[in-house]
Amino acid sequence: MQLVLLGPPGVGKGTQGRRLAGDRGWALISTGDMLRDAIAKQTQLGMEAKQLMDQGLLVPDGVMIGLVRERTLEPDAREGFVLDGFPRTVPQADALDATLRERGRPLDMVVAFTAPDEQLVLRLSARWECPVCRRAYNALSAPAADGRHCDDHPETRLVQRPDDTAETVRRRLEVYRAQTAPLVERYRGQGRLVEVDGTGPLERVHGALVAALDC
Ligand code: AMP
Repeated sequence: MQLVLLGPPGVGKGTQGRRLAGDRGWALISTGDMLRDAIAKQTQLGMEAKQLMDQGLLVPDGVMIGLVRERTLEPDAREGFVLDGFPRTVPQADALDATLRERGRPLDMVVAFTAPDEQLVLRLSARWECPVCRRAYNALSAPAADGRHCDDHPETRLVQRPDDTAETVRRRLEVYRAQTAPLVERYRGQGRLVEVDGTGPLERVHGALVAALDC
């Protein structure tokens, strides 16, 4: 299965994608995580991306398209992949379609998660993650067992993302509406879209996702 997860920041793409990909043996390809890894390693890409990410702006299409083209060829993606955070613009979607068509294996499905803005802002401000495994926690609805350390890495303190501040979140929502939301209609028109309500408990959203994908 080759799957794209679409939806605004904070809607749960990463959490749901991680679980689905882990259960099914597919690669989870999160472009945000790839960029954060590049920042942690202080590569040229990381340093350039950080400037844009901290402002809630997008990294240029050419860079992202190249990263995803390479990443989807890695062995762990052979059985399938879940793309989280890509495509985010029309040129990225065009490039993904073209790449997968060239490989003779088009995208199977696109899931659009939905949630009201007020809930997204609340979720992002309560979001914490493990810097080692990237597991996401929510201080209000899904806290770590001791509230401060990763359940899977008890030595590691959870951190908040620098782009989860109120002002940057507002910008990211605007960027989503202007640049990414139009992709929902594009994929609907291609008959590949399923919509999943991203509100409510993780288990319920996971159930709705599996039901929508029939997998
Ligand atoms: P995310 O973890 O998906 O919320 O992404 C965090 C940030 O990384 C975004 O706000 C962008 O600055 C950057 N980013 C991630 N994926 C992409 C993409 N496909 N195109 C451009 N920028 C991206």
